[in-house]
Amino acid sequence: MNGLLRTAEPAVPVAIEGSLQDLTSIAPIGAMHGFVPPTVHQQRSFDFMIVGAGFAGAVLAERLASQAGKRVLICDRRPHIAGNAYDHFDDAGVLVHRYGPHIFHTNSQRVVDYLSRFTEWRPYEHRVLAEVEGQLLPMPISRATVNELYGLDLKDDASCAAFFASIAETVEQVRTSEDIVVSRVGRDLYNKFVRGYTRKQWGLDPSQLDASVCARIAPRVNDDRRYFTDSFQAMPKHGFTRMFERMLAHPNIKILLNTDYREVIGLIPFDRMVYTGPIDEFFDLRFGKLPYRSLEFRFETHDREWCQPVAVVNYPNDHAYTRSTEFKHLTGQDHPKTSVVYEYPKDVGDPYYPVPRPENADLYRRYRELAEATPDVFFAGRLATYKYYDMHQVVAQALTVFENIVATPSGVPAPELVSVTR
Ligand SMILES: Cc1cc2nc3c(=O)[nH]c(=O)nc-3n(C[C@H](O)[C@H](O)[C@H](O)COP(=O)(O)OP(=O)(O)OC[C@H]3O[C@@H](n4cnc5c(N)ncnc54)[C@H](O)[C@@H]3O)c2cc1C
Repeated sequence: MNGLLRTAEPAVPVAIEGSLQDLTSIAPIGAMHGFVPPTVHQQRSFDFMIVGAGFAGAVLAERLASQAGKRVLICDRRPHIAGNAYDHFDDAGVLVHRYGPHIFHTNSQRVVDYLSRFTEWRPYEHRVLAEVEGQLLPMPISRATVNELYGLDLKDDASCAAFFASIAETVEQVRTSEDIVVSRVGRDLYNKFVRGYTRKQWGLDPSQLDASVCARIAPRVNDDRRYFTDSFQAMPKHGFTRMFERMLAHPNIKILLNTDYREVIGLIPFDRMVYTGPIDEFFDLRFGKLPYRSLEFRFETHDREWCQPVAVVNYPNDHAYTRSTEFKHLTGQDHPKTSVVYEYPKDVGDPYYPVPRPENADLYRRYRELAEATPDVFFAGRLATYKYYDMHQVVAQALTVFENIVATPSGVPAPELVSVTR
């Protein structure tokens, strides 16, 4: 009926706190921010309040509970755990990712070893095609792409490198995303594959965006058709949410969903906080709002087995949506129907992509200074550090933040906010 995934493994019971009644009776009501540590000792107080049940919050909850013996309350304003990585079975019984496709890949053995305690893996190498002039061509741009697009027969890396060099533009100083792409592969490939997609995604021309935005997906001279080249590429065998259920299935961890932490801050006593929400919200937008790009998702289920040849198809030049994702490619689910999601970039909505412009980096720096001077609150994850991080990077960051927490006595500001590299 629902395919392999739903039946493969029983759900792990997780303690979800639905009621605050027994907690509210024991705590004084404190201020919203600069929370008031309990003055009356309560037997049921928590060592940590963790705001956000995504990767950052869940890793820290798990570490603090299992390794440091801490009592942890993790709360999320969404009705589910797993943050943006949340997956679930839709009405047709197809496993889908609520917040767009999430593909796991990393070069960090430490991160793989850590997560493997909570999941088995299904090997999966991601493939993306771009629809350009009626053809479906491999992304990122590679030897395979230009051979198929231009009808060439470049046989090796050297001939492809020479081809790119012959079409690349000279750019004195690479500053913008347009600069980086045209300096690598020239204007025609930039116009066909990058310009339209980036304009849709960011609502800005690549010439207005920092080079780092388009530098992430570098062109290749080989004909490797995989989207990622990391040494470990796999999906949690039973999905992300199941993996999170296992991470949080510890008797020291209580979970409170549908709850903004500001609703309960004075009601539930705790000693220290891990905050993984937006850093500007924590400080009541004191210096102004940090801009994000958002997405609207349109899900469709089709009464046939497959819709597209690979998991993701990009549409750089046509349609209002940027890409379509067919989930069964990612999950390996066996099902007679198939579900696809289309992504429509937006200015407003859930905060997904920090907008990498110098003025935003300056604004973030001001919040970061406040964060580093705030005792007993540890900031972690993509929203609290205003940085686009992949999942493995957030896990690595959270493992380091855990080490910092263990090393930091109460009442002392946390060490510098941890940033991570690939
Ligand atoms: C469309 C999209 C696709 C992506 N694809 C990939 C991919 O393929 N591979 C990859 O590695 N990474 C991908 N990512 C990145 C990935 O989503 C992040 O790395 C990861 O989810 C970050 O985890 P986090 O815990 O920092 O944040 P989140 O997962 O966002 O968790 C933060 C949680 O905090 C909660 N919260 C915030 N404020 C409050 C509050 N005031 N009170 C209570 N709760 C609060 C939020 O509801 C949220 O659940 C993608 C991201 C997006 C947006």
